[in-house]
Amino acid sequence: MKKPFVTLEQLREITKTYPTPFHIYDEKGIRENARLLKKAFSWNPGFKEYFAVKAEPNPYIMKILREEGCGADCSSLTELMLSEAVGLRGSEIMFSSNDTPAGEYTKARELGAYINLDDYTMIDFLKQECGIPETICCRYNPGGVYTVSNGIMDNPGDAKYGMTKDQMKDAFCRLQELGARYFGIHSFLVSNTVTNDYYPMLARTLFELAVELKQETGAQITFINLSGGVGIPYRPDQEPNDILVIGEGVRKAYEEILVPAGLGNVAIFTELGRFMLAPYGHLVTTAIHEKHIYKEYIGVDACAANLMRPAMYGAYHHITVMGKENWPCDHKYDVTGSLCENNDKFAIDRMLPKIDIGDLLVIHDTGAHGFAMGYNYNGKLRSAELLLKEDGSVQLIRRAETPEDYFATLDFTEFFPK
Ligand SMILES: *Cc1c(COP(=O)(O)O)cnc(C)c1O
Repeated sequence: MKKPFVTLEQLREITKTYPTPFHIYDEKGIRENARLLKKAFSWNPGFKEYFAVKAEPNPYIMKILREEGCGADCSSLTELMLSEAVGLRGSEIMFSSNDTPAGEYTKARELGAYINLDDYTMIDFLKQECGIPETICCRYNPGGVYTVSNGIMDNPGDAKYGMTKDQMKDAFCRLQELGARYFGIHSFLVSNTVTNDYYPMLARTLFELAVELKQETGAQITFINLSGGVGIPYRPDQEPNDILVIGEGVRKAYEEILVPAGLGNVAIFTELGRFMLAPYGHLVTTAIHEKHIYKEYIGVDACAANLMRPAMYGAYHHITVMGKENWPCDHKYDVTGSLCENNDKFAIDRMLPKIDIGDLLVIHDTGAHGFAMGYNYNGKLRSAELLLKEDGSVQLIRRAETPEDYFATLDFTEFFPK
């Protein structure tokens, strides 16, 4: 059973000040989970999590994670600016961009961030723009198909990211000629893995690569970045990952492969987004209409512009009808938003308790890639973001957009003058 981290009574109180829809985040859950991740990798003295900012680009959330020892993984100028705004600097920032626009490496270097090169051709691009730093990371793509124990699979051969093994070798040689002294290796092969085997398997792949690169290029490898991809159980029947088991699996691979090769000082980095935040966010919305045609519909005041994953990927997000947790799920509904887009459905043919107009619905696991993927289609405005603090109080951490915000980029015209 998925249980919301807020009660109906709390939500009734909150909605007096902040109308639905809004995203709300659970500070306690975020902190406890971050501490568990840290514990799972405490065997590695250099371990650091670089929170993938794209998953939830809110400085209040980034600050909480910073207090728990996390840095930031960025891939755009504004993500770098957010990291700077929360006080992150230097080795606390990873810049894992691809197809990098001009000027962004310069900003990353100004902040002293680690730069993770997505391609061999980016060496010259970086050199011309702002020079080669002493420490540099390269992103690896092994190609082919990647299968993990329970069949979860992705197709790195079709992915735009990273370099081939030969390019990695050439890159390490060239970068050394250009003055780089310390190296990192990065790879991201499968998204949202719900298995304890993904990270340990990826670690083996990258550790073996590190040994090969060290032997063949003489490069001094100081960190290996396992990136993102550790997932969460969106469905209530899924078994969650055990991060302690995952950390232990990576440790085993480390001792088997890196330590004997004289690489026992390598730091392990992660760039998790979903695992850090997804379960600790809810999208709270109100049922505002019902409709009975060929199917039964419940219309809510949120829409895909607030949470795109169901419309974009057909992703499952669990829904709790607040106050009706123990009612029988004997009604079959499509739960929809108001976009003029038929894929604007948070649930299709979902068995739920009878929903009445005015009921509050919690859409689960929206803390990562939720608000962040929001957009303004149909002139929909982005919602507020709230933080449920450890002491039970609620803080507004992003106000809801207004029509003025929506029209702000037209403020130079005769239609919407400043
Ligand atoms: C998206 C992304 C992540 C985070 O992925 P999750 O699936 O949220 O863990 C980490 N690193 C890079 C480079 C990414 O693009």
